[in-house]
Amino acid sequence: MIIDSIQAAVGHTPLLRFTHREFAEIPKGSSVYAKLEYLNPGGSIKDRLGVYLIEVGLASGKITRETTIIESTAGNTGIGIAIAALAFGLRTIFVVPEKFSLEKQALMRALGAEIVHTPTEEGIIGAIAKAEKLQEEFADSYLPSQFENPANPQAYYQSLAPELVADLGESITSFVAGVGSGGTFSGVARYLLERNTAIRLIGVEPEGSILNGGASHSHEIEGIGVEFMPTFLEGLPITGYAAITDSDGFAMTRKLAREHGLLVGSSSGAVMVAALAEAAQLPAGSQVVTIFPDAGDRYLSKNIYSREDY
Ligand code: PMP
Repeated sequence: MIIDSIQAAVGHTPLLRFTHREFAEIPKGSSVYAKLEYLNPGGSIKDRLGVYLIEVGLASGKITRETTIIESTAGNTGIGIAIAALAFGLRTIFVVPEKFSLEKQALMRALGAEIVHTPTEEGIIGAIAKAEKLQEEFADSYLPSQFENPANPQAYYQSLAPELVADLGESITSFVAGVGSGGTFSGVARYLLERNTAIRLIGVEPEGSILNGGASHSHEIEGIGVEFMPTFLEGLPITGYAAITDSDGFAMTRKLAREHGLLVGSSSGAVMVAALAEAAQLPAGSQVVTIFPDAGDRYLSKNIYSREDY
């Protein structure tokens, strides 16, 4: 396959099928499919958002060749935007809470981005406020605002979801995915709902996130979990939320690497725990689809594959 830019390699990721042979909890005749988004060029699902945001921004005139892109991010959105911005020589500045992985910050810098830190205690809300402040200081700047920009779910509605339907048809029983900004979950869910109103929609969060109504507390699973209700989820007929403990999520992340050769991050481990639980309680013949959002090697400094406590 010959391509003319790395941006053209975003998307069209493989869909890996798991059956009873790989995981005893999957009933015979049922399948769990994982979309391997970590195989995108920037190592995550957010490459799709980066390419789409820049495309839409340029088309609408909100971005010109002189615009500085400023965004708050845990890292993957920054990497995705940075890759997309490079195609047009755009300057990028990302506001990142200190606690997020050093590798993701190193990757953003490698792509020419500048990083501004905010205190871990202020969470993503603090990073959003800082990004908004920075935008006021730059004359020609654009803040994609991934937490409220409809282009975020739309990126997944128009690229990832059609790939799932092309591979599986319209008979998907359940869609199980992590919720950070909610962009991936809601964009894909809306597309699938338009084809099958009976589809089950399971949002996955780490224990400590608020979707299930539990108390908010810190967690180690990175990339999913919210401090506020994502606006993108409003109006979606969500079947339920699965809150996964750090311990279960990391144990599955390790198992996916050691037994299946899948070098994915902890949000992938978390959604796999939820997808297996979903498949286990459905009749034989069901098709459960989930998404592995990013690669595990960006968490090596956090001992993702070797911690003794999980
Ligand atoms: N997993 C990881 C590792 C992520 O970085 C993100 C995005 N923050 C997600 C899952 C969730 O994606 P979304 O923001 O679309 O809900």
